[in-house]
Amino acid sequence: MADIIQLLPDHVANQIAAGEVVQRPASVVKELVENAIDANATSIKLIVKEAGKTQIQVIDNGKGMSETDARLCFERHATSKIKSADDLFQLQTKGFRGEALASIAAIAHVELKTKLEYNDLGTAIVIEGSEVKSQEVVVTPQGTSISVKNLFFNIPARRNFLKSHTVELRHIVDEFHRIALAHPSVEFILYHNGSELFNLPKSNYRQRIVNVFGSKINDKLVPVSEDTEIVKITGFVAKPEYSRKTKSEQFFFVNNRFIKSGYLNHAVSAAFEGLLKEGYYPSYFLNLEVDPHSIDINIHPTKTEIKFEDEHTLYAIIRSAVKHSLGQFNVAPVLDFDSDTNLDTPYSYKDRQAVAPAIQVDRNYNPFKDSGYKSSVQRQNVTQWESLYVDTQPAPSIELPNEMEFESEAVKQQLFQNSEETPASAVFQLQHKYLVSSLKSGLLVVDQYRAHQRILYESFLKNMTVKSAVSQQLLFPLKLYFSSSDIENLKSLKTELEQSGFIFESFGNETIEISGVPFNVSDSEIPIIFEQLISDIENEVPEANFSTTDLLAKSMAKSLAVKRGQQLSREEQEHLLNSLFACKEPSVSPDNKPTFITIETGKLDKKFI
Ligand code: ADP
Ligand code: MG
Repeated sequence: MADIIQLLPDHVANQIAAGEVVQRPASVVKELVENAIDANATSIKLIVKEAGKTQIQVIDNGKGMSETDARLCFERHATSKIKSADDLFQLQTKGFRGEALASIAAIAHVELKTKLEYNDLGTAIVIEGSEVKSQEVVVTPQGTSISVKNLFFNIPARRNFLKSHTVELRHIVDEFHRIALAHPSVEFILYHNGSELFNLPKSNYRQRIVNVFGSKINDKLVPVSEDTEIVKITGFVAKPEYSRKTKSEQFFFVNNRFIKSGYLNHAVSAAFEGLLKEGYYPSYFLNLEVDPHSIDINIHPTKTEIKFEDEHTLYAIIRSAVKHSLGQFNVAPVLDFDSDTNLDTPYSYKDRQAVAPAIQVDRNYNPFKDSGYKSSVQRQNVTQWESLYVDTQPAPSIELPNEMEFESEAVKQQLFQNSEETPASAVFQLQHKYLVSSLKSGLLVVDQYRAHQRILYESFLKNMTVKSAVSQQLLFPLKLYFSSSDIENLKSLKTELEQSGFIFESFGNETIEISGVPFNVSDSEIPIIFEQLISDIENEVPEANFSTTDLLAKSMAKSLAVKRGQQLSREEQEHLLNSLFACKEPSVSPDNKPTFITIETGKLDKKFI
């Protein structure tokens, strides 16, 4: 039989490799910006059109490339960053595979312009689907500009696979945040469709975080700093009161590279244990410096996962360092590091096996010496919106498993407690979470939280579609602070918010001023509504068919509904039941979970056989 094996042509091999490197426009952004950092750029401009689907351009002032290198950089396995496999274990650069540019050039229209510092002229290359279309000598500033147009032009299936602009842009912004936070000494500017989304001047780490996430985070950042033989930790955690309903402000960087690690994330969460409300996550920005020999970053092509030599020790060190910082800044209950923590740590992990972390603790530290901190606390107390924000603890909500259990023991107790009034009443509240009433055919059990969500949801929907919402003026306009990406997200719902009764005095880049709110909403509930809304917009992954009205109505219903655990008066209970059954779809909550169950008398009879 004839030989049948042949080598794939380069452009085919490149297209296949591209599948690994380039999943979506954000992958191109990551590769190009990382190359600019590796080229020691101090200023990087990212220009994106239509969420990167039509164009992504990165302009840097880095070291540039020679004419030969400009041509070579598009070859597969062409890299200036490693020479031998040994180099892999002391990597200082982001890239090293020499695959990115070859892959990108295989599936897009690419234009490169680059010039070395001491040359008068530079090189311009146009390459499309791995084919070099032109190469010229040009006048161009020092550094490199790479423009990538029409991504996946020759792989329509991949192009069709891309998500809506909102989703793809969010991925780009996420990548941008990760790189910008890892490199505060580099200036970054991001334009989308001609408007500037971020302008981050060279700064220190705290300023960078504030520039990315908005000034409201500034007062909430608590520094973390720890230096051990295994790891040096620097960075910040946000105080518990700033914790968010999303995990979008959780960042670990290892040797300036963003990484994901569920295990290390757990270490931070453990340090916050007991300080966070249910359903809230800590925000953190932590840089770990470790010996490059002790990690293997070569396990995943997109390189956000990492293997550490000694993960357990790292866990213990991170947890202690964060706990220590929270303690120092007077936000955690345990301050005394000399005493036996087992005696006074109210946390559930106190019984777990202790790992002895090799950390140094400053025992002379006096947490009350830092007057700067105190004054910032005082300032907080006089700032109306902030104290509102901090003080509004929603009634403790007890999360239930999805399927409703009927606890007969509890019913019995409740029956006995209320034995005098129960027989006469048509409805009673069980454990502050269910409303129980009798039906002709048996027993009705209503989940108060879900039922109220249904009622509010339908009423908000009606207001927004009929545009008949009633507003109430606030005595003092309320100012809320957000990060610019949160504001972008909220802007997309501005009309719907207004239709539901909000009146905006201003809608700035970082602040929203509210002068009117929907009828029946109290000022203290407003921050909760917005926090929930931002988390819902982030988690919903809005697609083309997504209805903003629906999302807003659901989100507000979730924020404002009476929570499980909240006691209701007899009138409130009756009103809730009546309103529920006046709804169009009383049987399910806005997210399609049952609002009530019934138990037929026949079924009850059987239990008593
Ligand atoms: P890698 O980054 O893994 O080396 P790439 O395909 O991303 O592979 O880039 C190939 C080479 O092209 C790099 O090693 C570098 O020498 C050069 N290069 C890429 N982008 C730039 C840039 N912005 N400035 C200077 N050189 C660059
Ligand atoms: Mg690279």
